[in-house]
Amino acid sequence: MKKLVILGSTGSIGTQALQIAAASEDLQVVGLAAGSSWEPAVEQARQHGAPVVALADAGAAERARSAWDGRVLGGEEGIRELIASAGADLVLNGMVGAAGLGPTVVALGEGIDVALANKESLVIGGELTMALAEAAGARLLPVDSEHSALFQLLGAEQPGTVERLVLTASGGPFRGRTDLEGVSVADALAHPTWRMGGRITIDSATLMNKGFEAIEAHHLFGVPHERIEVVVHPQSIVHSLVDLNDGATLAHLGYPDMRVPISYALHFPERADVDVPRLDLAAVGELTFERPDTETFACLRLAREAGEAGGTAPCVLNAADEVAVAAFLEGRIGFTAIAAAIERVLEGMPAQPVAHFEDLFAVDAEARRRTEEEVWGLTTV
Ligand code: MG
Repeated sequence: MKKLVILGSTGSIGTQALQIAAASEDLQVVGLAAGSSWEPAVEQARQHGAPVVALADAGAAERARSAWDGRVLGGEEGIRELIASAGADLVLNGMVGAAGLGPTVVALGEGIDVALANKESLVIGGELTMALAEAAGARLLPVDSEHSALFQLLGAEQPGTVERLVLTASGGPFRGRTDLEGVSVADALAHPTWRMGGRITIDSATLMNKGFEAIEAHHLFGVPHERIEVVVHPQSIVHSLVDLNDGATLAHLGYPDMRVPISYALHFPERADVDVPRLDLAAVGELTFERPDTETFACLRLAREAGEAGGTAPCVLNAADEVAVAAFLEGRIGFTAIAAAIERVLEGMPAQPVAHFEDLFAVDAEARRRTEEEVWGLTTV
């Protein structure tokens, strides 16, 4: 029986992970963590028999305590305590944004494997996070669909046989367009194939999400940036590909459904039954591929440059993106201003080497402050 802690349990990934755990005889949920939505978190704990709930928002933790007899931990230190004290064999990190890095560090530091749905843990802190996992003997199991695909494809390969990783991108709602000046928030939120939260949906529309995924893949699989490619594939049936040294290319296919990669990460190295529709290629009919337009979708270029620069650059990239996307979602700046703001902030904060996680937290804060200033300058209303 694998003991599981789920961080971000009330989000989309967390909710699906909980359903998979409930249906599995091999997984036992020993703790849940959420931000401020204490009522759904307590309801989940009741329903799934989780003895501990941690809430990042201390006020929400207070209210949960008065409504539930189980153990409630509060604040960021509450989440750290949950990870360190719940006796977990595996922590699923489904938290959103830079806030997910700290909990990943705590889990790995305790030698606990992490099923990683929080991209920022690797985008911001990739070098340090991978070094920590290695030193602690803990494993990072990717939950992101593309990385789960690569992880499965690479599983049986000997070192030195991999020539290239190819990440597929749906292209988002604006694929094929070159005039994105006046697009609305509603247009940008209408993602063609995946249903996700606000920020990641905007990141998919700008292709920043794919840029983050390339950085994530670089760290997870130790492949240099120049050997990681992005190809636009609107049907989202091929989740990623691997080119090998003998000319073979391996691909991972399936309908887009996050339950498949979540189940794989939770049950690894086993596989469990997942009740999803089986791929019918004749019904799909056609799979198409095209090169990304990095001129219109400047975020993909910015992410590539930040990844190659390394050090603090991906941390700046992520912080600037979080602030710029929030400003777009609030209607304060236009869609194309997202990339413009990020580029200005990256230019003003050239890459520095990173020695400690604390360095990253300081850089993250500084990049957010600078992006707020850029956003003021770009405000349209
Ligand atoms: Mg993805």
